[in-house]
Amino acid sequence: MIRLDKVSKRYPNGHYGLVDASLTIRRGEFVFVVGPSGAGKSSLIRLLYREDFATEGEVYVDQFKLSSLRRGQVARLRRQLGVVFQDVKLLPNRNVYHNVAFAMEVVGASSRDIHKRVPQVLELVGLSRRRENFPDQLSGGEQQRVGIARALVNNPIYVIADEPTGNLDPETSRDIMKLFVEINRRGATVIMATHAKDIVNQMQRRVVAIEQGRVSRDDARGVYGYES
Ligand code: ADP
Repeated sequence: MIRLDKVSKRYPNGHYGLVDASLTIRRGEFVFVVGPSGAGKSSLIRLLYREDFATEGEVYVDQFKLSSLRRGQVARLRRQLGVVFQDVKLLPNRNVYHNVAFAMEVVGASSRDIHKRVPQVLELVGLSRRRENFPDQLSGGEQQRVGIARALVNNPIYVIADEPTGNLDPETSRDIMKLFVEINRRGATVIMATHAKDIVNQMQRRVVAIEQGRVSRDDARGVYGYES
């Protein structure tokens, strides 16, 4: 379970990313985080994977209290999380297989496990036949699939995505969204900040809306709900 308890995030320049935000996300949920640009979506996402700290309140991810993690616990926390970004940032001099394998290498997985797991996750994202290709030989949608494979390869409990379809055309975005649905169906909790209004409206999943840093709406079967 992820829990935000009265969380505020004040940046050094005095801007607030989040204001007194409370929220609970249970394992297995699929949650969209929506809101206008500058509302605080990325601030929320960054707190979840401990890229940044709350300045007030507390964020909990399962047994981890994020304000007071000891060294070593950060690595354990991050192993439970897979993070997907709008800007995929693949390693340009590694092929698809090795981009994904790298995420296992850095957490010290055995080469036996890597050989077993990477093909499975490439199959899941539909890139088995692209495994030898380099990033500059891939479309934007394929690059994002590599990013998703990389996020999934260590079997995270939570998949956290910040605008994963932000650079993609509508059709490719729908395909990527279907992939997240499948990932959720297989058991991962998905938390996604997005501007993909049509998809949010169509999917009727939980929608948490953020406006000016505050949680303004939290609907179990929600809609996008504002003009963007
Ligand atoms: P969103 O992801 O919804 O577009 P953000 O979380 O990026 O919103 O931004 C929320 C607020 O926090 C904005 O007012 C923004 O200017 C501010 N903010 C975000 N990141 C920083 C930062 N690194 N330094 C200062 N202010 C920031």
